[in-house]
Amino acid sequence: MSNPEVASEAVRSGAHAESTTTGVEVLSAREVPLGGPRALQVRRTIPQRARTLIGAWCFADHYGPVEIPANGMDLPPHPHTGLQTVSWLFSGTIEHRDSLGTHSLIRAGELNLMTGGHGIAHSEVSTSDTTVLHGVQLWVALPDADRDTGRDFQHHVPEPVRIDGAELRVFLGSLAGEASPVRTFTPLLGAQIDLEPHATVTLSVDPGFEHGLLVDAGDVSLDGTEVPPAELGYVAPGVSTLTVTNSSDGPARTILLGGPPFEEEIVMWWNFVVRDHEEILRAREDWEAGSDRFGSVEGYDGRRLPAPPVPDVIIMPRRNPPSRSARQS
Ligand code: MN
Repeated sequence: MSNPEVASEAVRSGAHAESTTTGVEVLSAREVPLGGPRALQVRRTIPQRARTLIGAWCFADHYGPVEIPANGMDLPPHPHTGLQTVSWLFSGTIEHRDSLGTHSLIRAGELNLMTGGHGIAHSEVSTSDTTVLHGVQLWVALPDADRDTGRDFQHHVPEPVRIDGAELRVFLGSLAGEASPVRTFTPLLGAQIDLEPHATVTLSVDPGFEHGLLVDAGDVSLDGTEVPPAELGYVAPGVSTLTVTNSSDGPARTILLGGPPFEEEIVMWWNFVVRDHEEILRAREDWEAGSDRFGSVEGYDGRRLPAPPVPDVIIMPRRNPPSRSARQS
């Protein structure tokens, strides 16, 4: 996906507050219209004022189920740098093409992890048989040592794992004894957790990780705190279990994200994760000039997405405030 929020998303983050107490902070989503001629409305939980990162997860958009226009969702070639993108669908199919030469279908329940590294470009178009799109679009910030790495694309279909009351699809990291083989540059957890009606599951997690539970559907509570659909429950490091409850008569669907706090400061602007304002300008210039840095996408019928105007805001350092539970202690 391409990020249309160019002013407010020019955020700088890092240097997390120390927090070892337990508690759930509920982050609500804001509606953001994705750019392009055939826009899609998404619900964004991070980054936001209260929190910019969960581990190296730096961007979480949740969308649908939404009926797409008859001529489909069509996102022209656009660039990325300094990050990985995770496309995870609940329904619908998207055709992906990138400047690595990848041509792949993104289907529900299948992980597609694209590494931007120094620079990549890609296009995303819904397939002709897709009428409804529903899923999440997630970004991962790359650590300084690896952010200029080469382009990469990994595909993995996690085997659904049944535990009492729930079904898990672990697409990154490990959970409930299931491990994803997909390589990441920092430790990460990414899993879909589907709960049966009135089910409760308690999962062992890494106490060095912070976690976010994004709720898609159901009356879901995380460690006893209600997390409404489209919102995200955040838990600071220091806990070794998470308890997820579905109190609805129907099934619940959630996405669990985690990772050790990402200590580096980052700056996000448009589709770039960089370290300072100069790098934004350089990446933007490289894209506008058609530089080899991002390459070209073969097989896409149409023009590529132009970069938004040069940012006219001075990007101020921004940090994650202490979590609510930490402040109470
Ligand atoms: Mn994209």
